[in-house]
Amino acid sequence: MKTEVIIVAAGLGKRLNVKVPKALVLLKGKPLIAYSLKVFEKHPGIDGVVVVGAGGFLSKFVRLTRSFKKVRAVVPGGVLRSDSVKCGIKELSSSTSYVLVHDAARPFVDHAMIDRLLFSLKRNKAAIVGMPVKFTVKRVDTQSLDIQATLDRDLLWEAQTPQGFHKDMLIKAHDKNSNGEATDDAILVERMGNKVKMVMGDYRNIKVTTPEDIILARQLIG
Ligand code: C5P
Repeated sequence: MKTEVIIVAAGLGKRLNVKVPKALVLLKGKPLIAYSLKVFEKHPGIDGVVVVGAGGFLSKFVRLTRSFKKVRAVVPGGVLRSDSVKCGIKELSSSTSYVLVHDAARPFVDHAMIDRLLFSLKRNKAAIVGMPVKFTVKRVDTQSLDIQATLDRDLLWEAQTPQGFHKDMLIKAHDKNSNGEATDDAILVERMGNKVKMVMGDYRNIKVTTPEDIILARQLIG
């Protein structure tokens, strides 16, 4: 059973206050995307990788992925994350059964969590990595900032990537997505009424979003 990964890397890094796509921001001298590329390249369960980069910087993405043998396509993404995933789906090989979708903004994906995800995918059509939330979460009225509710922390997990799907399920979920907006892929499967299994991720598997995350990421590399 073949497994391929779509790494979405077309985001522009506005919240990071940088002029290049976030995936190209240097972390200890290496572009952010290079960290996750290396992890997937070395994982024996991964057969191929599709990189979805920012259109205006595609030649840079092509250059930096050249040394990774598993990268089979580098394509431009779209306006929304879900558009970029769709661009990646088009490049999957026809013989692929399982697809992992990963944010280039998460450089600390590791082999142990990929193993857990692939194991779960043998039994479930969709599974994602995530972690129990550590903080108290409030629902707030966005206008008045009045707190409306304190959510039961024991029921809350933070969704991370990679997120894994049987290929037919991922394609169907994206085809049915009419409003475009989706911060992850699992939500599209949930909306169709299908089950998605949660698998233990890692608290180190942070998403680099704001400048503080760059500082934290540097520390985590060591
Ligand atoms: O913006 P955010 O951090 O939520 O993006 C998550 C991931 O999705 C990032 O790796 C980013 O590069 C990617 N993305 C994309 N195309 C977009 C927006 C985001 O590939 N249009």
